[in-house]
Amino acid sequence: MDKKLLIVGNWKMHLTVHQSSLLVHRLQERIATHRDVEVVLAPSMLALQPLSMEIDRRRFRLAAQNAYHKDEGAYTGEVSFAMLGDLVHYAIVGHSARRLYFGETLDIVRDKVQAAVRNDIVPIICIGETKQERDAGETKQVIHDQLTTALMNLTGKEIENIVLTYEPVWAITTFDGIVAKPRDVQEAIRFMRHQVEELYGERTANAVRVLYGGSVNEHDVRSYLELPEVDGVLVGAASLNYHQFSEIVKIAHQVQTEQN
Ligand code: PEP
Repeated sequence: MDKKLLIVGNWKMHLTVHQSSLLVHRLQERIATHRDVEVVLAPSMLALQPLSMEIDRRRFRLAAQNAYHKDEGAYTGEVSFAMLGDLVHYAIVGHSARRLYFGETLDIVRDKVQAAVRNDIVPIICIGETKQERDAGETKQVIHDQLTTALMNLTGKEIENIVLTYEPVWAITTFDGIVAKPRDVQEAIRFMRHQVEELYGERTANAVRVLYGGSVNEHDVRSYLELPEVDGVLVGAASLNYHQFSEIVKIAHQVQTEQN
């Protein structure tokens, strides 16, 4: 079988622990186990522990939305990747909300990627330009800088196991919410893989999973998943709605069935 499609729901700072638990129950009622689709939920930090006991692990995996890059120490208020090791399989790193609202620099993102890998957590690294950068013709430069810094210090073998996401800031619902054309997504992801190939070789570039994220919903998900370059999607707003999210997973399975 080719790579599984990876569908990640980023719940951001939404839902109490109780509401998170209800959403998981609703999703478990609707989402079947598919061998060709992997479904990952990224609830708030607070909900990770209870959900880790409630989820059916054959159907879902958990992701943290963030963590601190040091393993332990006097860092009041932080939670480390080391502490999350038993709870999550994945962690979102370098999300544009973190880069833009919390001052995460290229170097901080690099340190977090390394901390995740060091603690056997697969980083889902978000990469993408703002509207201003796109309008200024800087898209490739921004992708290049974010990608090469994030992967710095990792081996080709480690990169084969991580997940990259092309997530242009202008396409995210809560920023400009402009729906990206599949052609633009394809071009950006080809460029990302090309960068990986130049630095780490063809095998690594083919193995690394690359997702698309930005206002994905049940109506347009197929247009992205049908692109051969796209290994899945990162879903924000639509992942909070169990009808929409379960439909997205269903469509991913259909696309896989048609293509294999
Ligand atoms: C996100 O912020 O990771 C995201 C993909 O959001 P949305 O789908 O709401 O654009």
